[in-house]
Amino acid sequence: MRASRFLIATAKEMPADAEVVSHRLMVRAGLVRQLAAGVYTWLPLGLRVLRRVEAVLREEMNRAGAQELSMPMVQPAELWRESRRWEEYGVELLRLKDRHERDFCLGPTHEEVITELARAEIRSYRQLPLSFYQIQSKFRDEIRPRFGVMRAREFVMKDAYSFHLDQASLQETYERMHEAYSAIFTRLGLEFRAVIADSGSIGGSTSHEFQVLAESGEDVIAFSDASDYAANIEMAEALAPAGERPAPGAAMEMLETPGCGTIDAVCEFLKLPKTRALKTLVVEGEEAGGDGAAGKSAAGAAEGGAGGANAKGGGRGDGGAKGGGEGAKGDGDAPPVVLILRGDHQLNPVKAAKLPGIASPLRFASEGAIRRHCGAGPGSLGPVGLDIPVIVDRAAAQAADFCCGANKDGHHFVNANWERDCPLRRVEDLRFAETGDPSPDGNGRLVIKRGIEVGHIFQLGAKYSEAMQATVLDETGRSRCMLMGCYGIGAGRVVAAAIEQHHDERGILWPPAMAPFQLAIVPLNMDRSKAVAERAESLYERLCAQAVETLLDDRAERPGVKFADMELIGIPHRIVVSERNLKEGKVEYQARADAEPTLVPQADIEAFLKERLAIGQ
Ligand code: ATP
Ligand code: MG
Repeated sequence: MRASRFLIATAKEMPADAEVVSHRLMVRAGLVRQLAAGVYTWLPLGLRVLRRVEAVLREEMNRAGAQELSMPMVQPAELWRESRRWEEYGVELLRLKDRHERDFCLGPTHEEVITELARAEIRSYRQLPLSFYQIQSKFRDEIRPRFGVMRAREFVMKDAYSFHLDQASLQETYERMHEAYSAIFTRLGLEFRAVIADSGSIGGSTSHEFQVLAESGEDVIAFSDASDYAANIEMAEALAPAGERPAPGAAMEMLETPGCGTIDAVCEFLKLPKTRALKTLVVEGEEAGGDGAAGKSAAGAAEGGAGGANAKGGGRGDGGAKGGGEGAKGDGDAPPVVLILRGDHQLNPVKAAKLPGIASPLRFASEGAIRRHCGAGPGSLGPVGLDIPVIVDRAAAQAADFCCGANKDGHHFVNANWERDCPLRRVEDLRFAETGDPSPDGNGRLVIKRGIEVGHIFQLGAKYSEAMQATVLDETGRSRCMLMGCYGIGAGRVVAAAIEQHHDERGILWPPAMAPFQLAIVPLNMDRSKAVAERAESLYERLCAQAVETLLDDRAERPGVKFADMELIGIPHRIVVSERNLKEGKVEYQARADAEPTLVPQADIEAFLKERLAIGQ
């Protein structure tokens, strides 16, 4: 490609709302332009990158035995009514009407459409298993589109769906897809982890997210430093500290703690480390026969803390994302439940809401309910003398001689102990795992990092096939609902995530598999030097003939401008042809990641490049 005939739209200005480096660089390098909030045009340069990602997705999906198809973006409401998601999906679903006043939506995902296809076309168990995929635009009316194409409203997704007669077959395809996803992100040069993910209300199902490690990520993940254990922080199991609980020491004593309504204030006042204080939170209990059926998939009620701050909402439209729900709010008739954590630990609302007896999504009890049941306000609560259900985190259950609220305003106990001063009935995993915690698989310690979710695989089971009656006849001629899996990768988000991981102060450093061009040839002052022009042109022609994706920067720009642009765009290899070097029979080579250029004899340049370009491809 000749740069003079190609839209190089590098820009100095930065979009005012660009919070992350990938967004800034994608705009500055001229890869994308925003048309409306969360809606982007991919410029020719950006599209070359996106297409390379798509090529890898296509290859690995084909290799995994999935067949490509293409489903419409506009979807009839009837299908969504059948799956009940017309009501449940909420405002992320962009709805529209045609000229006959019929309801449609823009597809945020395609479970309904693929299930409609499967129930019409698949008749016999003999046809199963079958997997389909497409690479296509989705629309989700995200509450907060941001980070450029990373959280857009219109975005390209590779989505795949599989159909099975039984769980064993679903499991097999799921594992095959897991392998395919690992192959994809490895080929794309990304540092990633496959993490155990919350499967929301579909209960008991398996789900993994593929997370690219990056400081700017919206997710928090925990993984072992010694094994391949990895989980979304929402799911990462937090073990109790090793060893036995110490024996009780001095007698429990009540102290006045005026104005100390938080753990920090109490510990400061009593000169205690936060590990020696217990915090008491009161949440709404699960009403008999209530929330359970709607599924335990709390998204709300974060107490703060790393994972709780996760700003993500949405989900697979399973109802859990709606928050609140229709259940009784505030002072419901179920008694509240007390949760006890160590002062230095944070409540994990997703784990808590999954426990029997606790409302889902998690809701904190009102102050009125707390006073009625505990006899004091939220800053002075503790487990001693309560007669409502108390659930104690594993680490808090190991505490001895601890400080806790005395259920009397402005008072705390010190030297309180389990069993001696209050019973220890129910111990559960309630907290967010933390750096240095032992890995739940027994190997190594947990590291906590931020991640960008680039892919998600999910065992849907019979959720859609039951709702939409997608059945096949089995060996005995009986009609059975198919089981389904679904598998998504955001192609645009992958591009942004790659930039988050691979950039420097001058611009992008593309992993070879994603680069828009492999090589840039930068002739200096070619309008003035015939030798430079000829040499650059002939090298360009020969490399093109060998199918090397080459950008010849034949623009009438100053050398400094060309260098800056090529570095910003991030082309992995660069040849500079200048009169001075040609006089010595040499051209200059520099990889984007190299600190210094290398002078290469003209005669050797093709062999040299062949070797360099093969590396890492
Ligand atoms: P998130 O939690 O980030 O909203 P999600 O759970 O809604 O993601 P899925 O429904 O599993 O995402 O979609 C599959 C993939 O599509 C995600 O892993 C991600 O790569 C991509 N994706 C989802 N939402 C967006 C978006 N708004 N913009 C760009 N890519 C997206
Ligand atoms: Mg979402």
